[in-house]
Amino acid sequence: MSGWTKKEIVERLREPEPASLFAEAAAVRLAVHGRCVHLRALLEIGNICRANCLYCGLRRCNASLERYSLDADTIVETAFRAVKGGFRTVVMQAGEDGGKRPDFMRDIVASIRNFTDAAITLSFGEWPEDAYGMWRQAGADRYLLRFETSNRQLYSRLRPGRTLGQRLSCLEFLRKSGYQVGTGFMVGLPGQTVDDLAQDLLLLHALDPAMAGIGPYIPHPRTPLAGKYGFRKGPDWREDPVLKDCEAADMSLRCLAMARIMNPFLHLPATTALEVALDNGYGRGLSAGANVLMVDVTPSRYNRAYDIYPGREPGKDEDPAELWKRCSSALSALGYAVSDSRGDGKKAAPSLVPESAGTGNYPCSCSIADCG
Ligand code: SF4
Repeated sequence: MSGWTKKEIVERLREPEPASLFAEAAAVRLAVHGRCVHLRALLEIGNICRANCLYCGLRRCNASLERYSLDADTIVETAFRAVKGGFRTVVMQAGEDGGKRPDFMRDIVASIRNFTDAAITLSFGEWPEDAYGMWRQAGADRYLLRFETSNRQLYSRLRPGRTLGQRLSCLEFLRKSGYQVGTGFMVGLPGQTVDDLAQDLLLLHALDPAMAGIGPYIPHPRTPLAGKYGFRKGPDWREDPVLKDCEAADMSLRCLAMARIMNPFLHLPATTALEVALDNGYGRGLSAGANVLMVDVTPSRYNRAYDIYPGREPGKDEDPAELWKRCSSALSALGYAVSDSRGDGKKAAPSLVPESAGTGNYPCSCSIADCG
């Protein structure tokens, strides 16, 4: 039980002036996580996808997208440079590439595990249980799989052939396999109500994940949802007189703050989608309770093609070490410090790495003397 009712959550999300909501979330964040921010190196290893989600630019039927799949050497070498540059987590993300064999990813995870005790996070969508198990045994620590919406009808409409039940079963299996599980949801889907968002927050709390991504829905022009089915139809909360001017990004900040208040220990990124949709989205996300930033280290010629939604800043092929330093200076100017710990979840399962691995201590196991 969260101790929160749906009605109470709706009331907080509907506050005409959300400043007090953000301040409360920031105070919880400071008390539990201090001033530390965890930087995760994000490597988009391929954009081929067998699924056909109505909102996503990587969907199977988007024939205009140039597809790519990084080879093993490029993935492992980029991960190596990211770790050498200071990142304590490498996140590998891809569409659901049905042509890729699970043992290909197993070998990559094992190769990365060979040279580092940094956390390895995977985000490859839905796979058979033996693939999840194989990757975990090879040394993967975490798995990100957002449930996207807790509204079963909306879920099935947006993800043809898939059900929310299947998604939740995957999450359950991942947890049982010893992964630190990340999940989350989208804010601003056509037809979405404030009640739906309150239900999303309740589901998030019930799942008790280690991490959660909460970000705005950004319409992609080459998807059905941005076409005749959805583009002009915004979320239903816009019909509420209090929320009529509340955009998806503003509502995402409110949801982020609520997620922080309801789940103090959760690792919450200020998402890339938030930065795309909002001026100073990263900074505002951190002020609303986030404590994680994902830093894209994908070689630029590929990250342009990882076109899940429009507006993402193309990469500049900056060396990961330089990127890490640049983020660190920018965060320092805002009063934050980059954590030097892995930033494991509060209930991290034993890592399948040598004794020298990250400790998994909590709240913050970094060695910054005045953190918090
Ligand atoms: S949301 Fe994920 S599974 Fe759906 S089309 Fe996009 S990449 Fe594929």
